[in-house]
Amino acid sequence: MLQRVVLASSNRGKLTEFGELFAGSGFDVVPQASLGVQDADETGLTFVENALLKARNAAQATGLPALADDSGLCVEYLHNAPGLYSARYSGGHGDDAANNAKLLRELEGVPAERRGAFFICVLVLLQHADDPAPLIAEGRWYGRILHAGRGDGGFGYNPVFLPEGCEQSVAEMDVALKNRLSHRGQALAKLHARLAELHASA
Ligand code: IMP
Repeated sequence: MLQRVVLASSNRGKLTEFGELFAGSGFDVVPQASLGVQDADETGLTFVENALLKARNAAQATGLPALADDSGLCVEYLHNAPGLYSARYSGGHGDDAANNAKLLRELEGVPAERRGAFFICVLVLLQHADDPAPLIAEGRWYGRILHAGRGDGGFGYNPVFLPEGCEQSVAEMDVALKNRLSHRGQALAKLHARLAELHASA
């Protein structure tokens, strides 16, 4: 039987990716918005703290196990900014075009070899709101920031991020390839492996 889990995210791009990533996984992943859950305040100072806050908020509101992710882009030259503030780097929440434009402005004149960056995703699975032993998995996807955006697939900083070993920006990349390589794909693969271990030893 499918296990029902509430997904503590309201970001459309991420919901689409989670749908694809969870297909055939044994989980029935229900977005929190469809259960009337309000977004948690992301007051943590790290990705893992924010993911925990989001998961606890969704578990508390629904009584279901909750899966949350917190993710963002860290750029070395900018001391890991935009980091926790990736979604609202330019001011308003989720204005991808303005965020990308600001990032390119901040890196104006910076040569390719100093434009190193990584996407990070931290996933937290709580069995219930008071679960003291959450499952936590992290993925990082390394690359660099291009001098101009390329492509229009997906969301966020996809057009300006060139993954290591790739010729295409994330926005030019096939969705299945992105899901295999990405920070979110990596974190989810680790979470699946942990769940399999736990089931095997139960
Ligand atoms: P969150 O909803 O607080 O986790 O915000 C994460 C933000 O990081 C998103 O709104 C995007 O700006 C950025 N981000 C995270 N993952 C990706 C990705 O896979 N592609 C592009 N941008 C991403």
